[in-house]
Amino acid sequence: MRFNEELASIATYQAGKPIEEVVRNFGLREQDIIKLASNENPYGTSARVVQAIKDNAHKAHLYPDDSMRALIERLCAHYHIKDTECIIGAGSDQVIELCMHAKTHKGSKILIAGVTFAMYEIYAKHIGVEVIKTPSQTHDLAQFYELFIQHRPDVVFLCVPNNPLGECLGRDEVYEFIDHIGNESDGETLVVLDGAYQEFAAYKDLSKRICPHDLVSRFSHVIYLGTFSKAYGLGGMRVGYGIAQASIIQALYKLRAPFNITTLSLVAACEVFDDMEFVERTIESNFVQMRRYEEFAESRGIGYIPSYTNFITFVLSNPYDSSVICDTLLREGIIIRNLASYGINAFRITIGTQEQNDRVLCALGEIFSS
Ligand SMILES: *Cc1c(COP(=O)(O)O)cnc(C)c1O
Repeated sequence: MRFNEELASIATYQAGKPIEEVVRNFGLREQDIIKLASNENPYGTSARVVQAIKDNAHKAHLYPDDSMRALIERLCAHYHIKDTECIIGAGSDQVIELCMHAKTHKGSKILIAGVTFAMYEIYAKHIGVEVIKTPSQTHDLAQFYELFIQHRPDVVFLCVPNNPLGECLGRDEVYEFIDHIGNESDGETLVVLDGAYQEFAAYKDLSKRICPHDLVSRFSHVIYLGTFSKAYGLGGMRVGYGIAQASIIQALYKLRAPFNITTLSLVAACEVFDDMEFVERTIESNFVQMRRYEEFAESRGIGYIPSYTNFITFVLSNPYDSSVICDTLLREGIIIRNLASYGINAFRITIGTQEQNDRVLCALGEIFSS
């Protein structure tokens, strides 16, 4: 059978290996496997959310309230925005896809950092959109600006902080860049600001904190993306959101399928706002534990990228090979993310709980003899 010809150029997204697959392949017990590959919350799901899901389990036969009013109201209160300025997606992934369909067509261009979230490129390719990348792997706004002038892309993606590298642009430079792009494109180029890890960045350094309310009040050509999958501990529930001026949100609504998140996902996302203490504890512990990885790298002369997220990326040099190391760890039941597919000799570890990190650091200690 022939398919949409654009599919030929798309590699299937490699998600972090599921625990079940490692159990099957290596004969390990499920409880002995540590998964630190997809930046999920290692502290699990908030106990209040678990209870709310149980209390509502009997509603699984019902479609969710398609207006998603309860969640939109909470987001509005949290971010001081209007209900017309917000859309819910099945993960912020889905909102990325909606943005791509709303702004691009075959032959359009998008502009992204040299190494960044893989889904921007994958959704672009679905449509036959050309992907322009900066030579710099991390975000370099001077390069972004130069390529913007040269290519006039329809969408520019800024991942702040960036996955999978962990670096983070500052708020002031981001706002200035968005302003420039607005002036240069007459407000026609959409800037997508992916804030999947903003909660972590804001905690570590207030000058990195991007406020969706500021963006919406200042700019008509930007959308902020947030997710419940990382700091909020709801990766398995698939809930994310976009915040932008109403004209952008209205366009995205035309592309959204009805009931695009589940009844129980809606319950879970609403409930987590009543347990912000869980979220705050998660973020605090994250940086305490991250320090251990930094110290490990520093003591052995391993390169790493200072991170504003819930993961850390180690950048290797000879004779170390990220594929070999990831494989070695996998055999011991430790799943991390090899970045060889991005063309770099590096791996990304989601910061785990203290006990998980004990085991990972011990295993890494045997690989990198000091
Ligand atoms: C995890 C992640 C997302 C989206 O995750 P969802 O689970 O789809 O909400 C978006 N962007 C980046 C950079 C991410 O790391």
